[in-house]
Amino acid sequence: MKGMLFVLSGPSGAGKTTVCRTLQNDYPGLKYIISATSRKPRGNEKNGHDYFFISNQEFKQKIANGYFLEWAEVHGHLYGTPKNQVIENYQQGHISIMDIDIQGAMNLKKQFPQAITAFIMPPTWEEMVKRLDKRATESQNDLQQRMENAKHELNYLKYYDYLVINSVVNQAVEQLKSIINAEKCKIKNLDLEEALPWVKKITALE
Ligand code: 5GP
Repeated sequence: MKGMLFVLSGPSGAGKTTVCRTLQNDYPGLKYIISATSRKPRGNEKNGHDYFFISNQEFKQKIANGYFLEWAEVHGHLYGTPKNQVIENYQQGHISIMDIDIQGAMNLKKQFPQAITAFIMPPTWEEMVKRLDKRATESQNDLQQRMENAKHELNYLKYYDYLVINSVVNQAVEQLKSIINAEKCKIKNLDLEEALPWVKKITALE
């Protein structure tokens, strides 16, 4: 199989991180791409596991060095996808999974039209606000900004390939697995010579 880029976006409070991490543990061979960010770690987030936490200055240096495949300012902080992780996985035929915002997803899709994009939504606006509130790691200001951004982000839903509503985490994860499985069976995503070596021998005789 050729490599696959699987991009997940959605508003804060959609439960993207939980869904993404559960999927990563449940689906063998998925490679989660660890982004870099200039924001400070929250709760028990760990450097090199959740993000590479770097300073604003280091982030800007990395932009100048062409380190990122894409980067964006989200909720007042900088976030970027390290190019080498993605390219390496792709060349080795792995499925990379990325949790990036809409700007990043649109940007990536321009560079890799074959990337598969899924938008994760909470079941209702009220539920989203409740989840954000419960997280309680954001300041009131940050919370307000995330809610404003969520309204804006909804306009981009139409540019995504798939919609997954996250009412129950395991169900959302099952849906994502089905999407990946279906994408894996698409002829254009397969290396046919590898998947069906005997077909070439037969058709060569025609
Ligand atoms: P959080 O601060 O809640 O972890 O993430 C905030 C937003 O940044 C989320 O929408 C997340 O998808 C996005 N994000 C995380 N990593 C990246 C990245 O590498 N690039 C872009 N464009 N967005 C990212």
